[in-house]
Amino acid sequence: MDFYSTYANLTDEQNLIMRSTRDWVNQVIRPDINKYFQEGVVHPEAFMGLAEIGAFGLIIPENYGGCGMDFVSFGLMMQELERCDSSIRVVSSIQTSLVMYAIHEFGSEAQKEYYLPRLASGELMGAFGLTEPDFGSNPSGMICRFDVSNEHILLQGSKMWIGNSENADLSIVWAKNSENEVCGIIIEKGKVSNFTSNTFQDKWSFRSSKTGELIFNESKVPIQNLLPNTKGIQSAYKCLNIGRFAVAWGSLGIAMECFDTALKYSQERLQFGKPIGSKQLIQKKLASMATEITKAQLLCMQLARLMDQGESHYAQVSMAKRNNVKMAQAVAMESRQILGGMGISTEYPIMRHMINLETLITYQGTNEIHELIIGRELTGFDAF
Ligand SMILES: Cc1cc2nc3c(=O)[nH]c(=O)nc-3n(C[C@H](O)[C@H](O)[C@H](O)COP(=O)(O)OP(=O)(O)OC[C@H]3O[C@@H](n4cnc5c(N)ncnc54)[C@H](O)[C@@H]3O)c2cc1C
Repeated sequence: MDFYSTYANLTDEQNLIMRSTRDWVNQVIRPDINKYFQEGVVHPEAFMGLAEIGAFGLIIPENYGGCGMDFVSFGLMMQELERCDSSIRVVSSIQTSLVMYAIHEFGSEAQKEYYLPRLASGELMGAFGLTEPDFGSNPSGMICRFDVSNEHILLQGSKMWIGNSENADLSIVWAKNSENEVCGIIIEKGKVSNFTSNTFQDKWSFRSSKTGELIFNESKVPIQNLLPNTKGIQSAYKCLNIGRFAVAWGSLGIAMECFDTALKYSQERLQFGKPIGSKQLIQKKLASMATEITKAQLLCMQLARLMDQGESHYAQVSMAKRNNVKMAQAVAMESRQILGGMGISTEYPIMRHMINLETLITYQGTNEIHELIIGRELTGFDAF
């Protein structure tokens, strides 16, 4: 679906990223994704497959093992991964937007040289620990804290709803120092004491993705694992900004997949002797969906171009994330309706996407939090 030729001016490289990601997803992930989703299991090919296609660190410079590509390419990749399932986009996004980006932006040269190539190749799996049981939308209130003692950091507290939790080899954990400043710390499995992690088994959404807790009990972490260049909670938000950009493009991928499914179905399904697509009420739904998707495509493309020029600001990312998730929810609902009873069948992906969208509307800043960010930008008043 490209009604306004939004993708017409892509470079050969950007086009290649979009098409090769789509091909990989279709060949490797799509055939079994329903099964893994229903079983609540991570797709076994996802992690190393994503490493092989360069989906870890696409925007990280090549000298650190990344691909040194632009935000348009990154967005297109997120669109194609999530078009299949959120669990696939989220693995790539956590690794790139939240973990590699954090180390690249705030790490020492030694940390970048050691960790980034290993994260890019899939030798290490990352996680990002910001949310706490009592601090979700307001992470700056966090109670996770650390003291520095001789050669070590002593870390106390817990993080909740963390993607990859139990499987991660390293996590970027955000905690307050004795002066109440939020800092980022690299927590590496095997190099931290009194640390446990778990996976939350009972969830309806993001079924093919692990989410759980990271728990620290006076945990000793080598002092060298402190990210030296973080500057308070704003540093965590900088990473989230890249994550939110990925969600905006990913939601677009979901909407395009739901729309394509509904359009094809409407052209093939006969009722009252004619394809349902020939009925005005169905065409109205399709026209509305196509319009909303087109607007979201334009939003995403312009945002990516602003980011490539270094000219975007937080509220623009918030607007794209908020709009595209809401838009995808509405498109998924209408698409499911066009499929009638078949809409609830696992033969079609729409209900799986609807369920995943319940996470997208909440995480990486809830819908309301993005309204407040946009409102603050417009009015100058902080309504948090
Ligand atoms: C599947 C999944 C994966 C996740 N992965 C990660 C991860 O990898 N790392 C990580 O750190 N976190 C992760 N999260 C956590 C996620 O970011 C939080 O769930 C989110 O920030 C919301 O926090 P909360 O759940 O505590 O909701 P709350 O903050 O308690 O919000 C509850 C409701 O109140 C509303 N609300 C809050 N404040 C205001 C206000 N000022 N005005 C109006 N309304 C308000 C919210 O919009 C929401 O509707 C994940 C969450 C999920 C569900």
